[in-house]
Amino acid sequence: MLTLAKYSVGVGDRFAHQARAQLRACQLAGEAGVEVIPVWNKSNREHTIIGSEPTATRAAADAAVKALGWTKPYHVDADHIRLETVERFLPSCDFYTIDVADSIGQPAHAGAVKIFSARHPELLGTVAIPGVSEPFTTTPQDVERIVGKYLKAVKDAGAIYNKITWIKGRDNFITEVSMDETDAPQTPQELLLILAALADENVPLQTIAPKFTGRFNKGVDYVGDLVQFEKEFRDDLAVLAFAVKKFRLPANLKLSVHSGSDKFSLYPIINRALRDTGAGLHLKTAGTTWLEEVIGLAESGDEGLALAKQIYAKALAKKDELCAPYATVIDIKATELPDAETVNGWTAEQFTGALRHDQSHPLFNPSLRQLVHVGFKVAAQLGEVYLAMLRKCETAIARNVTANLYDRHLKLLFVS
Ligand SMILES: [Zn+2]
Repeated sequence: MLTLAKYSVGVGDRFAHQARAQLRACQLAGEAGVEVIPVWNKSNREHTIIGSEPTATRAAADAAVKALGWTKPYHVDADHIRLETVERFLPSCDFYTIDVADSIGQPAHAGAVKIFSARHPELLGTVAIPGVSEPFTTTPQDVERIVGKYLKAVKDAGAIYNKITWIKGRDNFITEVSMDETDAPQTPQELLLILAALADENVPLQTIAPKFTGRFNKGVDYVGDLVQFEKEFRDDLAVLAFAVKKFRLPANLKLSVHSGSDKFSLYPIINRALRDTGAGLHLKTAGTTWLEEVIGLAESGDEGLALAKQIYAKALAKKDELCAPYATVIDIKATELPDAETVNGWTAEQFTGALRHDQSHPLFNPSLRQLVHVGFKVAAQLGEVYLAMLRKCETAIARNVTANLYDRHLKLLFVS
């Protein structure tokens, strides 16, 4: 089996121009004594909006690795794929995030829940799991309810996994299962039953992305109860360690935190939990790098700043259309968005001050930041005009991409 390292970071790169700057952040972690493996992730939705192909993501990753002399593993992730969208990723990807969130709550075959219950008498009653805050007590009704809710999703994960193995061979890729894009978070008890069912289905997942408690808005900090998050996160780690032994899942099975960029209030909590337990982690980021591109454009002044302002103005004009697909993961206050004319008068310092994720900066504007986050379609429509400016402003952009990923993410999570 192709094995994913203990610490890994998903580095989404929407326009496939920042792979080197992102890889540099992993090198900095290495220089600080911690191995963090890069995984270039891009979802089918992102490819569709931008009009790109997975082969471009692979080519950018390969070129960055060559340019920087990276000798450790690296991967390319077919992010959030389903049975009907996996095909075009198969030649380029060695990491598959199997997204079964849409199947949660759909009825499984009637007999399947009974078969699961008969196979797993050990999950009934009080199950003492080392490290959980309180033992779970599971009744037959709980099993029926939880397995009834998730079994169809698990079966679908099995079907997608099998499709990938037919083409790739089972030893040549890493499997992640994601359930984050759904309404209700999964409790640690649910996670245990989901893992038992995935093991029954012979899906050798190395990472699982549950939906955690609280809001993981795009590009901004976590909104929720930190005490509750810490409790559930640690319980999830305990459940994973238990499930690995109990259900013979891959020994390196770890949590994957999606929409994981910019969650600054969570990083010390996660860092402590990883240290205390020795667990690994996959942190998935995507749009945070695109925001650094816009910051780098603005910082460059002149034409770069002018293009950054143009992107903002267009995003503001198309706000409703851009926000619609992300309605549940953004929280924009329309009254806090400056009009295009105001922004046109800004200096580079004012623009970057509003956009950069520095919560202590007096100009920081989380509504503006979230709008630009979902506004990458505007840059995609600018096409070669945008890409040419990325190349022109490369120095400033690369500096911001690397510093954001290393100083504000990897360092706090894995190195501190
Ligand atoms: Zn996700």
